[in-house]
Amino acid sequence: MNQTEAKKKVETLREELNRYNYEYHVKDNPSVSDYEYDKKMNELIELENEFPELMTADSPSQRVGGPPLDAFVKVQHNVPMLSLGNAFNEEELRDFDRRVREGSDGEVSYVCELKIDGLAVSLTYEDGVFVRGATRGDGTTGEDITKNLRTIRTIPLKLSEPSTLEVRGEAFMPKRSFLALNEEKEANGEEPFANPRNAAAGSLRQLDPKIAAKRNLDIFLYGVGEWQDSELTSHSERLEKMKAIGLKTNPEWKKCENIDEVIEYVNGWVERRPDLDYEIDGIVIKVDDLDRQEDLGFTAKSPRWAVAYKFPAEEAITKLIDIELSV
Ligand code: NAD
Repeated sequence: MNQTEAKKKVETLREELNRYNYEYHVKDNPSVSDYEYDKKMNELIELENEFPELMTADSPSQRVGGPPLDAFVKVQHNVPMLSLGNAFNEEELRDFDRRVREGSDGEVSYVCELKIDGLAVSLTYEDGVFVRGATRGDGTTGEDITKNLRTIRTIPLKLSEPSTLEVRGEAFMPKRSFLALNEEKEANGEEPFANPRNAAAGSLRQLDPKIAAKRNLDIFLYGVGEWQDSELTSHSERLEKMKAIGLKTNPEWKKCENIDEVIEYVNGWVERRPDLDYEIDGIVIKVDDLDRQEDLGFTAKSPRWAVAYKFPAEEAITKLIDIELSV
């Protein structure tokens, strides 16, 4: 492909991806599958790598999420809420491991977590009291959805210690609640939600908290934006401490001592994924040591110390069949 052809293709891909982002992040109503979206995004990234002169700061490859809706009060994230780089196969996981180990001696431990398919949210606690909840928005500015998040019973309004912290997690709708909600919608002649992720996002990005309250939402917290006076040195310690003070973490996380163990964990979940009562779209792998995370830093869009392994598309089809059969 010559540069003129590449320029044309890049423009088309950006236009399409911007539209998909808007439908997915702003309208909570995607028109294409995640697989199709990821394929186009990868095509764009490859062209931008091959023709760096075509790169622009506003390319969808450089941007997180979508803009916050005007109807909500805006919340500035002190620490940006970023996206994650992707890996689609074992080779790409090994490339990630190589990049992480480059330039640093010794082995690296990882924490593997389920990648929950819901809506990324931030919860702020001051002296142990829940004061604010927000969406990720475009990574810098999110929407204040405190009232809606307060309706999720698994979000503690008070922690068991007077900590001041901002934690991140995924609010989601369990599969069974999603099916029940769609049945109800269909019975009322309303348009059903495309998937549990959109149902969760659509329920939380409502001005009336009574809607979220009826939707049986849940949450898993998996990360920290800021944690005042914390002396913890690893992500695994943070997960343990979060659980100890009342924050709901996912029990399936595992510390892995090397990339082979990570790959074993990933393969195990390709099999076990349909057994879960909530949707996951992959596995997130994070460097455990916080100093090492800091050394690795971030790109414009994602941390260099973490990667999201995305499950193959066929899984999505099997999974849907499995839900239908198990109801
Ligand atoms: P992402 O979904 O690839 O990964 C980042 C997100 O993972 C985080 O923001 C967080 O919300 C979530 N996450 C879940 N469990 C986590 C855990 N244990 N630890 C850390 N993070 C965890 O990236 P993204 O920027 O949120 O969204 C991009 C993706 O969204 C695309 O790859 C595609 O799958 C989907 N998308 C689809 C469309 C569409 O039209 N179908 C459009 C836009 C985006």
